[in-house]
Amino acid sequence: MTENQDANGTATIREEDARRVLAAIDADEAIAFLRGLVQIPSVNPPGDVVDAVAFCRAPLEAAGFACQEVEQDAGNRKPNLIAELHGGDGPTVCFNAHVDVVPTGALEAWRHDPFGGTLEGGRVYGRGAGDDKASVTAQVMAGVALARSGVTLRGRLVVNEVADEEIGGPAGARYVVDAGLIRPDYVIVGEQTLNRVCVGEKGTAGQTVTVFGRAAHGALPWEGANAIEGAAEVVAALRRELWPSLEARTHRYFHHSSASVNMVSGGVKGNVVPDRASFMIDRRLVPGEDPATVNAEIVAVAERVVADIPGLRVEVTPSDEVRPATMADPSGPLVHAMLGANRYLGLSTELTGFSMASDGRFFAAAGHPTIIYGPGDPKLAHIPDEWVGVDEVLEATRAYALAALALLGGST
Ligand SMILES: [Zn+2]
Repeated sequence: MTENQDANGTATIREEDARRVLAAIDADEAIAFLRGLVQIPSVNPPGDVVDAVAFCRAPLEAAGFACQEVEQDAGNRKPNLIAELHGGDGPTVCFNAHVDVVPTGALEAWRHDPFGGTLEGGRVYGRGAGDDKASVTAQVMAGVALARSGVTLRGRLVVNEVADEEIGGPAGARYVVDAGLIRPDYVIVGEQTLNRVCVGEKGTAGQTVTVFGRAAHGALPWEGANAIEGAAEVVAALRRELWPSLEARTHRYFHHSSASVNMVSGGVKGNVVPDRASFMIDRRLVPGEDPATVNAEIVAVAERVVADIPGLRVEVTPSDEVRPATMADPSGPLVHAMLGANRYLGLSTELTGFSMASDGRFFAAAGHPTIIYGPGDPKLAHIPDEWVGVDEVLEATRAYALAALALLGGST
């Protein structure tokens, strides 16, 4: 029996075990599972995932997983699946992905039925095909393959398919983690990374900037202080002074730090000088950036600009969820296992960072080492005619299975 050894001499994937697990993956079954899952419209809101979770549970239970569904509020139709495959007393590996999907938007924009699960040209089309049912499929099928292979695991595999990710996870991953329902040693969150290994995800530090002025008749603007015009000056200053510097805030694994003004509101009527205007900044952080410092930078620019305009004042309020970037140890066992799986399969071995937010942030914040990895292109998420390539889903299935195998090691 051969063993693959990494540079540190740590045993990774035993060749015979790898062959057994890969042989237990049934491509037709995986594709049929993905199509069937897409055909269940688990749109959030309202986020009813009862049928989608039951669909995931069935093959895992049949393969020997001990399954339970946990819910924050009984009856809110947002169950979360916790399916466990018990081996020895070794570590716990958790696969996590979400079964809820965003609404379709205007149906006229779709060429395919959003809930048809159409297979065409090697792609499965539909809302959620990529985000995130491709990852769910690959995780469930990897779990099934590990169980069917008969390879003895020295630890435990948990397949955790959750509700509520698309509205921030309160009844989904956040609940599962905060309630301590899973205590994994390693977490692989499935989101669209083109099957590249993401060592962590960017942080967020959204801010709402509100400028207060003085109302007046629109024909007598000199009697008022125009909050919209003041807010526009603040936006221009941020764009001129602060945003360019963010491009210099880089990290070896991540796209640079960023900011974007994404919502604006203000004014009451076309002939009234507005006394209030606000805009929201979507601010994304690379590792090393501190949300408090980020807030202070914006406050400094806003206050200086507004101080020069008589009659105005400004307030900057951080959003409810402010957090630094997360990162697993790039040279730790989890990253090592996932990269090893990709290397084995001839996929990318370049470590990268996830630009968006995922449910991984809850696991990482609770101290569980977490990476993000999954099939599909994030640019195709949330748009009409969303699709995922069947080959990518099968590659992810193999990669998840091999990564779990590396971490849970087949015992002799
Ligand atoms: Zn997603």
